[in-house]
Amino acid sequence: MNIFSVKPKIYFDKGSIEYLNTIRNKRVCIVTDPFILKSGAVDNIVNIFKANEVKYEIFSEIKPDPSIETVAAGVNKMRTFKPDVIIALGGGSSIDATKSIILFTIKILNSNGDKYNRPLFIAIPTTSGTGSEVTSFSVITMGTTKFPLVDEEMVPDIAIIDADFVKTVPPQITADTAMDVLTHAIEAYVSKNSSDYTDALAEKTVKLVFGYLLRAYKDGNDMVAREKLHNASCMAGMAFTNANLGINHSIAHTVGGNFHIPHGRANSIVLPYVIKYNAELQGQRETEAARKYADLSRILGLPCSSTEEGVISIICAIKVLMRETNIPSNLKEANVNKNELFSKLESMVDAALKDNCTKTNPRIPSKEDIVSLIKEIYED
Ligand SMILES: [Zn+2]
Repeated sequence: MNIFSVKPKIYFDKGSIEYLNTIRNKRVCIVTDPFILKSGAVDNIVNIFKANEVKYEIFSEIKPDPSIETVAAGVNKMRTFKPDVIIALGGGSSIDATKSIILFTIKILNSNGDKYNRPLFIAIPTTSGTGSEVTSFSVITMGTTKFPLVDEEMVPDIAIIDADFVKTVPPQITADTAMDVLTHAIEAYVSKNSSDYTDALAEKTVKLVFGYLLRAYKDGNDMVAREKLHNASCMAGMAFTNANLGINHSIAHTVGGNFHIPHGRANSIVLPYVIKYNAELQGQRETEAARKYADLSRILGLPCSSTEEGVISIICAIKVLMRETNIPSNLKEANVNKNELFSKLESMVDAALKDNCTKTNPRIPSKEDIVSLIKEIYED
């Protein structure tokens, strides 16, 4: 048995923020980070509420990699303000933090016997990357450890995919986050939990990233490219919240966390190596994963006269995209210190094997597999 869930209602295209005009006579809490507050992006929302005399408050204490403390402060805000509507405005951190704030507020208030209705949850992403606006995942940090929470209660009710909110994202962040989108799609596509439903979303996402990333990278004002990447991010989120991910994310989580490499860039560096590992081209028989990677090459119109050629083509295409967008091709190029990497290797391998994403990888990795993969990703 497999399951595909389609929860949030998605408002997309230019001007979809106008949806907020339908909110009247409610108490609204806007959750965001100090940077977004300063950028003026909040004004677009606040102006709508002012015009409609909607009572709102702004909680702008979200920091990158949101901590338990941030979530606790947010829960406190919920308990005192008691909003009917909660809007998460920002990248993955703001949306993830809001999910946990809602979850803990409901759990704490209900366990205290208070009657507290879950507020309407609206997510407005300001990067095209995590797809958090449609997923049931939230990553919270305690000390140096990241805890992924998964709960259906955390899926937003409404996602607003308005490219106006991403038009000022700088080129390198545009590239890093789009490569995260590509990784979500490819991992969902070969995941053990993939299905016809998630495959359709993954295939379209891969086409959109290859079709529009370079355009958005070279000209941030190319609003067609921005819109396509914003939709791709959301579609990849729908694919992986249902199909889950794989060891690409497991390795990127630990490498990124230990060496402060942005999430999307870490995923991108790992991607060609994990495709090669999962495809097992040297094996006795053709694997299902290899066939699916080759399908992606076919969809993109890349050379694909055999499964093997298709797998090699998609790896080459990803490497070209990385080169064109200035993403390092291995950990050495990303300035990771070799001695430090090797001294942390054991704990990193443990973390990768325990990571939730590993369960749905098409090939079950041994400890030795991850060790040699990380060594290869350092310097091939
Ligand atoms: Zn990701």
